Amino acid sequence: MTTKLEKTPTYVDGEVSYWFRDIGLPGRRPALPGDTSVDVAIVGGGMTGLWTAYYLKASQPDLRIVVLEKEFAGFGASGRNGGWLSAEPPGQTGRYAKSHGVDSVVRLQQEMFASVDEVIRVVSTERIDAHVHKDGLLHVATTPSQQARLLKRMPALRRYGWTEDDLRMMSAPELAQRVNVAGAVGAAYSPHCARIQPAMLVRGLADVVEEMGVSIYEGTEVTDVKPSLAVTKRGRVRADFVIRALEGFTAGLEGFERTWLPMNSSMIVTEPLPESAWDEIGWQGAELVGDEAHGFAYCQRTSDGRIALGGRAVPYRYGSRWDNRGETMSTTFDQLRVQLARLFPATRSVGIEHAWAGVLGVPRDWCASVGLDRATGLGWAGGYVGHGVTSSNLAGRTLTDLVLQHETDLVTLPWVGRKVRKWEVEPARWLAVRSLYLAYHAADRRERASGSDKTSAIASIADLISGRR
Ligand SMILES: Cc1cc2nc3c(=O)[nH]c(=O)nc-3n(C[C@H](O)[C@H](O)[C@H](O)COP(=O)(O)OP(=O)(O)OC[C@H]3O[C@@H](n4cnc5c(N)ncnc54)[C@H](O)[C@@H]3O)c2cc1C
Repeated sequence: MTTKLEKTPTYVDGEVSYWFRDIGLPGRRPALPGDTSVDVAIVGGGMTGLWTAYYLKASQPDLRIVVLEKEFAGFGASGRNGGWLSAEPPGQTGRYAKSHGVDSVVRLQQEMFASVDEVIRVVSTERIDAHVHKDGLLHVATTPSQQARLLKRMPALRRYGWTEDDLRMMSAPELAQRVNVAGAVGAAYSPHCARIQPAMLVRGLADVVEEMGVSIYEGTEVTDVKPSLAVTKRGRVRADFVIRALEGFTAGLEGFERTWLPMNSSMIVTEPLPESAWDEIGWQGAELVGDEAHGFAYCQRTSDGRIALGGRAVPYRYGSRWDNRGETMSTTFDQLRVQLARLFPATRSVGIEHAWAGVLGVPRDWCASVGLDRATGLGWAGGYVGHGVTSSNLAGRTLTDLVLQHETDLVTLPWVGRKVRKWEVEPARWLAVRSLYLAYHAADRRERASGSDKTSAIASIADLISGRR
């Protein structure tokens, strides 16, 4: 079935993100003025870097900390994402269970639940206005095969600590009382998720961190990280600890080109929907909504009555490239627009105001990691595979405990110190990721057309080859 759209779009493309256009692109903080010596140098001013600075400074106020940021705080995925402050663990839980046991995954999951509330606590105590609203998350099945996958995943999730209170199945009529998703056959609901305006959160956090006494240097690109040294074009920073917090941009640093694959994720946002459209869709709360397609779409209802939808239409560019300003490809825009109209037909006659893209980090085993090598003082966190909003908070607290040598439960979580092999060299990398997503999109088309409750064999093979599940 083709989805006919009634309104030809003219829209803003790139310009970092709609979230930044909403609040205005910020002026720059000063760049690093020259060589300096500190206790901790954090490379990257996104959520990972800023949460790490926040908890380090809160734990030990006399620490001298700098954040070195190439553009401005929040310029990366942290200021572009879908605003799902969710408890989804950052990686393949089955892999963590294999390496560290099921109990360790249960602990990680409990920390993820708690981290959602920890972010909300800090936002409230520090008076950061980020349109935070916790109404939970709806995983919506729009085909029988998606529903079958939801049901099949449930026993493993129960084993990993998701009780009936944390995640429960919902019938299609029950879902429709909250949100009307076209063709929905069922859903799973979790209360552990809040909607955020990501640019407001990351900018607010940067201000708080700065007020605590952390120096944030913007327009300061780090060109090399070495034991006790971060090298920039504006000076060299000597530090006992150098923390790499670059996620999707990690490949831009020499020596780390194949550490994490820079995966593009793109978003569109509608103009404010008319009341007639909301009457049709429902969605009076702030639940986050995602489908269960292999090509997965994630949505939020913004605080000003729009729908923002994201997905991985063209997920990877040859040679680990990305577009800095966040411009999208026209095929990406078209696919997202169709996905939106398919889920919410009332948006067919609504204009799209803005489209943008960002990069997130994907490790070869699709599992995030956080770590610190005490011998060199080099630390890192990231590779959250699209679940970095909450995980970056947990990572920041974990890095704090590692740096300060606090023997807490956090430092024994299964993602701590995780090492994984590098991605393949090109063109194998590009061919593999491109084929993978072509396969997933084909599988979604097939499952929609057949109406069968079986997962398409194309997707199962792609999962096996990629090691994604
Ligand atoms: C479109 C999109 C939607 C997403 N949606 C969600 C979601 O809804 N929920 C969720 O949990 N996750 C989501 N994610 C993932 C999540 O946003 C990221 O995992 C998370 O923000 C990563 O934060 P970070 O601080 O590690 O990296 P980033 O926010 O990318 O920060 C890295 C920073 O490093 C800077 N930098 C780059 N190179 C250098 C250098 N050489 N020197 C100094 N600084 C440098 C960059 O400018 C950037 O500010 C999404 C990602 C994208 C792209």
